[in-house]
Amino acid sequence: MASALTYEPVARCSTTKARAATLHLPHGPVPLPIFMPVATQASLKGLSPEQLAETSCRLCLNNTYHLGLKPGQATLDAIGGAHKLQSWPHNILTDSGGFQMVSLLKLAKVTEEGVRFLSPHDGTPMLLTPEHSISLQNSIGSDIIMQLDDVIATTSPDHARIKEAMHRSIRWLDRCIEAHKYPERQNLFCIIQGGLDLDLRRQCCEEMVARDTPGIAIGGLSGGEEKESYCQVVKTCTELLPDNKPRYVMGVGYPEDLVVSVALGADMFDCVWPTRTARFGNAITSKGVLTLRHASFAADFTPIEEGCTCMCCRSEADGGLGITKAYIYHVTAKETAGAHLLTMHNVHYQLSLMRSVREAIIEDRYPAFLNAFFNKLYPNKDFPAWVVGALGGVGVRLE
Ligand SMILES: [Zn+2]
Repeated sequence: MASALTYEPVARCSTTKARAATLHLPHGPVPLPIFMPVATQASLKGLSPEQLAETSCRLCLNNTYHLGLKPGQATLDAIGGAHKLQSWPHNILTDSGGFQMVSLLKLAKVTEEGVRFLSPHDGTPMLLTPEHSISLQNSIGSDIIMQLDDVIATTSPDHARIKEAMHRSIRWLDRCIEAHKYPERQNLFCIIQGGLDLDLRRQCCEEMVARDTPGIAIGGLSGGEEKESYCQVVKTCTELLPDNKPRYVMGVGYPEDLVVSVALGADMFDCVWPTRTARFGNAITSKGVLTLRHASFAADFTPIEEGCTCMCCRSEADGGLGITKAYIYHVTAKETAGAHLLTMHNVHYQLSLMRSVREAIIEDRYPAFLNAFFNKLYPNKDFPAWVVGALGGVGVRLE
């Protein structure tokens, strides 16, 4: 099928399966590997488009479900899509809307036609079909659009249902390809399903790779499965995916998950966690998550993370805000300002982590990077067994 992207390989790690590349999209180049923050309802909670761009974000995620309800398809068509709606000159990826429905609406029901649900506004029965999802994403005008898939929790004991969902996702991909109006300017990604069953995942990879979409996602993970199982699925899929296309693992955002998944050959990630946890007063740092609501920070006048170059941590002399842990502690309970500042820091942390990952791959020192990263996070060397196992599988020994 037609493609509106170019995947330009830059470097490969000589030990692990990590890859560095530049993804050329309609709204500019994006360095891979990348973390994509989730901007629900076309605004990243508390950040202006300028502040989001300041974190060096060049590709963010919008939710089709939210945009489809408000402002709605007619308004999106009138405005000319989500880039104009939110004054965002860079790239946007949209989900299909299916996962949001199934997870948000208890009454959602999946049939061969699509996802049936009751409107949260007035309770009228509605149906999201693969065709409707693509039509909405065509109106949003996102640079990357996702197929509607049939998502089942990986922890589901119902194997027959997982198998049905995998096959249905392939049939729905065909309907999405058929319905897609603008393949020359919007890139449709397929989504590999199959739960934790590696054979189902292999079958799904084979079928979907044959459809030749511009990019490929691995879906249905991060649903509470064991990390060992998660890593097995990612590794099994990346081994079967073509070298010349971006690989997106959906719903992943913990720093340790990101760096391990990159070692297993994945390139793109998204997760609401960094921004959601900011609203609870939590800061992501290289030594782990700091709960800045805790009184022990009341008189800590150091930045959230020493050396962090985000707007929030940077000193006033360097053009930043010079915010301290004590300040966040004092405002976090009573004002949105604390959440806003932490959102800035957390998004910046994730993006600069991926930038360091990319540099390490380009300089072919990713194994040493992984060792330094995990030693900082676990100074007593009590590395999680799943990390040791997954990295051992790609030739990296933590020590
Ligand atoms: Zn910072």
